[in-house]
Amino acid sequence: MDDADVIVVGAGLAGLAAAITLQTAGLQVLLLEQADEVGGRVRTDEVDGFLLDRGFQVLLPAYPELQRLLDPAALDLRAFSRGVLVQGRDERWDLSTAYRDKATVASLARFAGKRPLDALAVGAFSVRDAVVDAARLRGATPRETGLELSRWHVSQRTTEEIFQPFLAGVFLDPDLTTSSKMFHLLWRCFVRGGAAVPANGMRALPHALADLLADDALRLSTTVESIESGAVRTTGSASPLKARAVLVATDGTDASGLLPSVSAPDWRGVTTWYFAAPDAPLHRPTLLLDGADGSLMNTVVMSEVAGTYAPPGRALIAASVPNTTFNTDVARTLLSRLYQTSTSDWELLKEYRIPRALPRMTANHLLTTPAKVAPGRYVCGDHRDTSSIQGALFSGRRVATAIAQDLTRH
Ligand SMILES: Cc1cc2nc3c(=O)[nH]c(=O)nc-3n(C[C@H](O)[C@H](O)[C@H](O)COP(=O)(O)OP(=O)(O)OC[C@H]3O[C@@H](n4cnc5c(N)ncnc54)[C@H](O)[C@@H]3O)c2cc1C
Repeated sequence: MDDADVIVVGAGLAGLAAAITLQTAGLQVLLLEQADEVGGRVRTDEVDGFLLDRGFQVLLPAYPELQRLLDPAALDLRAFSRGVLVQGRDERWDLSTAYRDKATVASLARFAGKRPLDALAVGAFSVRDAVVDAARLRGATPRETGLELSRWHVSQRTTEEIFQPFLAGVFLDPDLTTSSKMFHLLWRCFVRGGAAVPANGMRALPHALADLLADDALRLSTTVESIESGAVRTTGSASPLKARAVLVATDGTDASGLLPSVSAPDWRGVTTWYFAAPDAPLHRPTLLLDGADGSLMNTVVMSEVAGTYAPPGRALIAASVPNTTFNTDVARTLLSRLYQTSTSDWELLKEYRIPRALPRMTANHLLTTPAKVAPGRYVCGDHRDTSSIQGALFSGRRVATAIAQDLTRH
């Protein structure tokens, strides 16, 4: 007798979304996860009363899949302010659209006065991306994002000072070679709903999804070693677990080890540092970008976004760069310049160097790939659709729907 209709390998966002979809279709699911907690790349550590997401990351409440699976309000989201602060080569821009104070309005007006074509271009594609049907953005001719920005007449200088550090944070892509389709789809979500984190850390998302599963559907600390016809072998278990279908929902590199026909993706990496400070160096939940030199650092006072991320009377600062070899002392010096304050009394709580953060998405990236790779074997995950929370959730649901159709047909 089978242990389940479908075994899902990996309880990241894709595996969780798949398991929920299969369960809703009336199938019996077994979700196997090698770690001691769900979430995959979306997890949160607690250190001395601080909440540290494993690498700075944000949730876009306008992600369609999020809204499909959950009520985002259940995550108790804390919003970043709209817009960004940018340390440019010669001046600092406050491009926050959330504030109406004199200094911010003056900075926005100065930017529009000095770079009117850039202001118009960004305004034009922001409105276009927000209002057109998403299918039109998906169907557009893809090109590298850098070329796309110049096609919209964004100047080289604004691209380098603002978009390069911003997208180095979002796609971990310092060269702006990511598909323009991805850029516009993501920009659409930023414009429509901004960015946020759950009060209890990014882990709240996978935890809320896991809560939707039947009690006996999830097995943690269970590593799948190999996949056979209609069965999987797990570490330390004498007999295989049997199922009508097996869905591999690991990251792309692990999937290529379990399924020979799947190729491992090229990865983009990131380093995030978390510092504790006695006082917030900026009293705003706003992302600050380094557009002045090649570091492409982005930083934010997390405790200003969500007070729950730090114990009372202390501030939590996150800073990230799109590579995994950046020197920590240099990062501290850069932060001192960006926040215009000394960082000598900041305590380094933890640094995360993550080489396998996001699968690279080139201009000719396929937005979707086949669900089935061999009889009874399926694959999903961000590497099969798009490299994001939205992409992982969508991939899980898409492939689970295909499995449910196959199993109910036979
Ligand atoms: C630092 C960082 C920042 C990010 N920032 C953002 C952001 O701001 N916005 C955004 O939209 N996206 C962001 N992303 C991307 C997003 O987190 C990922 O695209 C998404 O979480 C991938 O989910 P997944 O389920 O496809 O894979 P994973 O999260 O990698 O899940 C795979 C799971 O499979 C398990 N597994 C692997 N092998 C086995 C095995 N043999 N047996 C059992 N289990 C196994 C793993 O333990 C893991 O839990 C970020 C990613 C990182 C790392």
